[in-house]
Amino acid sequence: MKINFAGLIDHSTLDYPGKSAVVVYLCGCPYRCPWCQNPELVFEEGCTMVEIDKIIEKLNKNFLLDAVCVTGGEPLMQENTLEFLKKIKEETDLLLKIDHNGYFPERLKAALPYLDFFTTDIKAPIDERYGKAVGLPKNWEKIVERVKKSHEILKNWGGRKEARTTIVPGLIDTKEDVRAIAKVVNDVGFEIYTLQQFRPEKTLDPNFKFIRSPTAEKMQELGKEAKKYLPDTMVQIVTHEDGFQEID
Ligand code: SF4
Repeated sequence: MKINFAGLIDHSTLDYPGKSAVVVYLCGCPYRCPWCQNPELVFEEGCTMVEIDKIIEKLNKNFLLDAVCVTGGEPLMQENTLEFLKKIKEETDLLLKIDHNGYFPERLKAALPYLDFFTTDIKAPIDERYGKAVGLPKNWEKIVERVKKSHEILKNWGGRKEARTTIVPGLIDTKEDVRAIAKVVNDVGFEIYTLQQFRPEKTLDPNFKFIRSPTAEKMQELGKEAKKYLPDTMVQIVTHEDGFQEID
């Protein structure tokens, strides 16, 4: 069985909390977030169909790793990803995490039994703003419906889970945006909530290259706003200037 594969990074200490991980990049995505930093994966440029067993073989050759993080693009865009996750669980000793964007609740449900950790983007408050944030404003109702279904599934899952939001000036960057998302984070019961700083170096929509990153101060301010609503959740911000910082 094959999978649409872009490549892997042998060793990362940033992608699985507290562990050294290999990061596997899969191709395709149903969203078009204008600020996306991996447009080549979204548009499947340079991607090739690769035998799942070949990737598993590679994973088993690296004895220094603790974990594998399967990301994209959107890993659950491909149905075969479920077989890939199953094989990682059954044929390696690695901890397994995926990043998911909430658009495939049924596949998410099928994937969860194989996972040790799960990360999802909550890109905007769960309303019209979601469609704008993912570059598909006309489809916002369908997208929100699917994201809500994913959240319902996650609520009942006992594994470790993290939510992330990218702060993009002019799109998602107000205290009100963060408050509304923090309430969802609390309701679903995420263990970690991470606010990421938008970076303009490479973006799916070329117009976003001219938008400046939010300042480290702005990120702190929004992190503190989130923490007010998430006293029992680990809230962190990640900035180009200071890396990861936990908000007290
Ligand atoms: S940032 Fe958006 S468009 Fe890019 S891979 Fe993630 S979900 Fe897809």
